[in-house]
Amino acid sequence: MSNLQPVRGTHDLLSEGRKRHRHVEDVAMATSALYGFEEMATPIFEFTDVFARTLGDTSDIVTKEMYTFETKGGESITLRPEGTAGVARAFISNGLAQHAPIKAFYKGPMFRHERPQKGRQRQFHQIGVELIGVEGPQADIEVIALATHILASLGLSASVTLELNSLGDIESRAAFRSVLLDYFKVYESDLSDDSLGRLGKNPLRILDSKDEGDRKIIEGAPDFADHLNDASKAFIDAVQQGLSDLSIPYTRNVKLVRGLDYYCHTAFEFTTTSLGAQGTVLAGGRYDGLIKQMGGPSTPGVGWAAGIERLAMLSDVSLTKNRPISVVPVSSDLTRKAQTLVQDLRKTGLFIEFSFTGNMKKRLKRADKSNARAAVILGEDELKDGNVVLRDLDSGEQDIISLSDVAQTLTSKYG
Ligand code: ATP
Ligand code: MG
Repeated sequence: MSNLQPVRGTHDLLSEGRKRHRHVEDVAMATSALYGFEEMATPIFEFTDVFARTLGDTSDIVTKEMYTFETKGGESITLRPEGTAGVARAFISNGLAQHAPIKAFYKGPMFRHERPQKGRQRQFHQIGVELIGVEGPQADIEVIALATHILASLGLSASVTLELNSLGDIESRAAFRSVLLDYFKVYESDLSDDSLGRLGKNPLRILDSKDEGDRKIIEGAPDFADHLNDASKAFIDAVQQGLSDLSIPYTRNVKLVRGLDYYCHTAFEFTTTSLGAQGTVLAGGRYDGLIKQMGGPSTPGVGWAAGIERLAMLSDVSLTKNRPISVVPVSSDLTRKAQTLVQDLRKTGLFIEFSFTGNMKKRLKRADKSNARAAVILGEDELKDGNVVLRDLDSGEQDIISLSDVAQTLTSKYG
């Protein structure tokens, strides 16, 4: 093999790093359970259409970032770049409409071919939730409250800000689209190529451009808030009211749009200033048209996704490492005896490290290195009387205890 580096934009998650990810996942899943969300696991690849036809043909994901390949059977498959389309597909495939509302939590790897940098990878990981089948703003409030709760449980309340906007209903979007089109047409020659391409197809998308030249033009663009119809206004007002009732702080950012075509009404992001350019940690919104557009029954939905890497970088919880108990035979003749004891102790629920090789001194050194609390030392002489030595590695104190009492003594002292 010529190249043993991981593929660009991918990372191995080793001990401490994996623990941080796991912590984010565990907190998110446990908190979601308090709101009645159940884990749903969908495949990490889907037919390309699942994404291509739903995310919008002017989205960054579809135009540049998908990992798409043809299978040996000639089918076009795409590694999932995000979670919502797969959950919506699963909702339809499994006929879940009859069980609606569905509250789904998911976690796992996502794949996007973009330029790797801090907080931006080609394989990254998300946690996310979808609440499918509720039309009213209570659902939006519920998923935002859940996001706020998870971020708080991760100790991030002070590090993130919630920004909120309305993308209106279909009628409002059509009206705003033509107002935007008129505005951007004036700057046609100054827009970036990407934005120019979006002008005819989806001028709203231009508002999401990260190009600096575009940003200047966007500053003067009309506000969606001024073009919402009454129903859309009432919807976002109710969401804002609900957040205030729950004392969830937010700011209305009238320039916030989401990168995917299927969003309507509520759009929101939790952002931070501590991760440089990769400032969005959690983002979501309402997608009432998605399931129908995919060929399912007309069903509203709202949800969000958060990048685990970005959350793990922000949250500096100290993860305490469990301390083992080391079992040390003084000579290799006692290896088999020790191995049996090790296995018996583990069956009682104790964390036991077995010191495999080396002389007694080396083994004790290794026990220290693994931060063991205690060592159970098996010596010929003591064993003749049915005893072992138990050494507390913090205090250095040593006792002789009966082999038959080891499990109970360890459990009461260190369990
Ligand atoms: P960005 O503007 O940073 O590209 P996005 O709008 O493409 O984000 P979403 O599709 O909304 O991101 O995904 C939700 C969250 O997933 C993001 O807020 C971020 O935390 C995380 N995320 C998205 N893309 C990546 C990536 N390539 N690497 C790591 N995390 C990512
Ligand atoms: Mg992106």
